[in-house]
Amino acid sequence: MTLASSIASLPAQSARPVIRTVDYLRISITDRCNERCLYCMPEQFSDWTPREEILTDQEIIAIVQASIQHGFKNFRITGGEPLLRTGVVDLIAQITRLPGVATVSMTTNGTRLPELAQPLFEAGLRKINISLDALDPDRYFQITRGKVAPVIEGIKQCRKIGFPSIKLNTVLMRGKNETEILPLIDFAHEQNVALRFIELMPLSLTEMLNESNFLPIAEVMEMIRQKEELLPFPTKLGFGPAQYYTLKERGVKLGFIGALTDLHFCDNCNKMRLTADGKIRPCLGNHLEFDLKPLLRPQILHDQLQEIFKSSLREKPLEHQFRNQYQPQRIMTAIGG
Ligand code: SAM
Ligand code: SF4
Repeated sequence: MTLASSIASLPAQSARPVIRTVDYLRISITDRCNERCLYCMPEQFSDWTPREEILTDQEIIAIVQASIQHGFKNFRITGGEPLLRTGVVDLIAQITRLPGVATVSMTTNGTRLPELAQPLFEAGLRKINISLDALDPDRYFQITRGKVAPVIEGIKQCRKIGFPSIKLNTVLMRGKNETEILPLIDFAHEQNVALRFIELMPLSLTEMLNESNFLPIAEVMEMIRQKEELLPFPTKLGFGPAQYYTLKERGVKLGFIGALTDLHFCDNCNKMRLTADGKIRPCLGNHLEFDLKPLLRPQILHDQLQEIFKSSLREKPLEHQFRNQYQPQRIMTAIGG
């Protein structure tokens, strides 16, 4: 399985000198999910990490504290579907209260937001990214095997509650959701939220991850420009890799995440990942991992945890390997999106 082999002929990964401040940790709190997105999880998938292998709240807190000692201050809770974890609201409350934590955000498929948006806000969550690949219920079902209605209700609820940062994430798939792009922009305008378009990445073993489904951001920008002028937005929104633009007439903020076609994608990478089973992964598109489990069980070894952060920062790859025939060894849900 290869994605976008046509762009593999672009200049090879270079050893450009880059100065990056790595202060953003994405934490996968579960690898389980209630949806089956075409690009993420095979429909029959049920090979979950055994529960006893998943980090406990106490272990996650110890890791966050160790990371803070090494400059991390922004944290994103993800998965799998983070809202499936029992006690997620309490875990968020614990993390937001830790000294040294500047922001706590979440990426979710939104299906459980109707009941959890309010408790999450009360727990201190202020920034939320909600995946929405289609508005049409049938198309949404074809892509995710789930129902779009609760997701839309959840988005509206987050707005009503007053989350200061709400972003929608749409993964681009040729032949699957091009026709949803303009309706999604209208929806983002109506809801006054930012919308980000993400290129497919080779992160799982589903059939959909092949060249014919790959839809580059440049093509989508061109499609949008046929309707409305796009103006570059001068500042970043949040800590992610998106390049932002606004629609001249309506002011909608649109982000474009060109993980494969943007050859400078990794230049400002500020993040590392913590997998649900306790591995620090310095780069999403590189198999390098540091296993924290031996330092957490039978007891938490706080000083050694800090040493691992030192090593993983030192060895963070300069660039991802997605353009080099990268073959995923663990699917996205286990790593954390
Ligand atoms: N379940 C949550 C969700 O869907 O938002 C959080 C985890 S999910 C793995 C995080 C993000 O990664 C989502 O926006 C999802 O669309 C994106 N994603 C998953 N697999 C991807 C792939 N192969 N290529 C690009 N984006 C992907
Ligand atoms: Fe689940 Fe998110 Fe993966 Fe979709 S992208 S299958 S919602 S983890």
